[in-house]
Amino acid sequence: MDREDLRLAVYRSFAESGRAPTPAELASRFGTDVPAVRRGLKELAASRDLVLDGQGRIVMAHPFSAIPLGFSVMGARVLWWGGCAWDSFALPHLLPGEGEMLVATRCPACRRPHAWNVGTGGPPVGGHVAHFLVPAARMWDDVMRTCGHQRLFCSEDCVAAWLEETGLPRGYVMDLGTLWRLAAHWYEGRLKRGYTRRDPARAADYLRSAGLSGQFWGL
Ligand SMILES: [Zn+2]
Ligand SMILES: [Zn+2]
Repeated sequence: MDREDLRLAVYRSFAESGRAPTPAELASRFGTDVPAVRRGLKELAASRDLVLDGQGRIVMAHPFSAIPLGFSVMGARVLWWGGCAWDSFALPHLLPGEGEMLVATRCPACRRPHAWNVGTGGPPVGGHVAHFLVPAARMWDDVMRTCGHQRLFCSEDCVAAWLEETGLPRGYVMDLGTLWRLAAHWYEGRLKRGYTRRDPARAADYLRSAGLSGQFWGL
């Protein structure tokens, strides 16, 4: 079982059905046994191509998520858990065949429901803001907590109220346009064979071009 074949099988299952394949499904697909699949998944987790829970189940393969983190994303045929704000806004770009998607969430501060039609043509309109608690340089320290704290709020006032209520420190705040540009090409190529991650210099260039300051990285 080739490592890149396994990675693509996981990503394509998420893309086509909205859910993660089980180790047993992957074993039957590749004509191998479950322990071999589990070893392969562990390698992919070590290289940050996916995230496993304590039982070895796939919980994330960015930007896809198998568990709710505050967002849902509805395409033409498929419904996904949206991961974080960044991941939810990335899905329409990664899967243009699904058309414009409906991204929905609740403001963590006041519980007001919000939904946007998100496509590839330009950012949705609105005065909402995204708040990212963890600086990019530390996002993988605890990636589930990181994604769980990349949320969309009604306004700066709701961010301030939520920080007051939770006692959490202020992270990075961006408008919808910046979030959309950040999400537009970050995950490009993940559904294709031979995907390689940007090196740090190219990642920094990309973040700058999306309009994010050095503070996003934690510098
Ligand atoms: Zn609110
Ligand atoms: Zn995320």
